[in-house]
Amino acid sequence: MDSRDYHIKALTNIWTGDLNGNPDRTITTGLLGSVRWWCEVLVRGLGGCACDPTRDGNRCPDTEGKHCVVCELFGCTGWVRKFRFEILDADGKVKQAQITQNETFIFRFTPLRPIRNEEWALIDLTLRLIAEYGAIGGKTVYKPSDEQSRQDNPHHKDYGLIQIIKRPEISPVPKQILCGYVTDSRWRKPDHDGFAWASLTNFWCVKGRYLARQDSQKSTFNRVIGRPEPKRRPQSKDSQSQSKDSWLAGRRASRRQLAESKKVFSFKDPPRTFGFVEEANNLQNFLQSLQQNLQSDWQDFRDEEFKHGSKILASILDRD
Ligand SMILES: [Zn+2]
Repeated sequence: MDSRDYHIKALTNIWTGDLNGNPDRTITTGLLGSVRWWCEVLVRGLGGCACDPTRDGNRCPDTEGKHCVVCELFGCTGWVRKFRFEILDADGKVKQAQITQNETFIFRFTPLRPIRNEEWALIDLTLRLIAEYGAIGGKTVYKPSDEQSRQDNPHHKDYGLIQIIKRPEISPVPKQILCGYVTDSRWRKPDHDGFAWASLTNFWCVKGRYLARQDSQKSTFNRVIGRPEPKRRPQSKDSQSQSKDSWLAGRRASRRQLAESKKVFSFKDPPRTFGFVEEANNLQNFLQSLQQNLQSDWQDFRDEEFKHGSKILASILDRD
């Protein structure tokens, strides 16, 4: 079975990091985990269900051996991934060193079992979602992180923006067919408790703009996630600001001692800001709060620059 190659250019360095957080290497499983995470986001946005394999009690398979549509492709206990995933350098050699800015590299997907057109379409749309609106990286940066302090470290900020230079041939699959496929009754439908936000429906992106954690006096980033400026909080903070902060910025989950994901991400070069709202019907309110909070920083910021959910889905589905 033929492999399919995506030729990709790194617009920033790409962080994967090994178990010790060492950034000097490209860890294939780290990037594959990131691809999978965005595929889950896409599938939920298409109306399907996807387990969170990092959560005990949520991951597939269930007691009857059923798995979700994402595990069908990416694998889970008792069900092998349908493809081999390799990262190659421009010469076709296995990429071992860290991928750095302006480098080109290849994501190679080689089927190990038959892969349906719908599944290729999911892979393709996921990579376009990442390249055009998101970012890719080891989970310590872009996924729910165990290390809150690391997330807040500016050093880890501008990683993972990519551009697809050349895609393999993928048969386009109409949206209705894709939605039908991901919602098919054969798939397990795990609940999305606690991470329903991780859906394309709740996703937004503004290209060409960034939020800065400038200094202790001024941080547009903190303004957007509702943290008071300067970064050091005053003793008495109003509760509204506190609750907004805890969700968007991520907080220590009391039960499992794991930090929830940070929900707003911003990149300076090239500029891009994206995030997730807690509930999709809050998108308009969130846009308004962005406009209010960033009046002086995002000059002439227009509604159309705020892309979200269905618009983004339409734009990645439309392009060939
Ligand atoms: Zn699953």
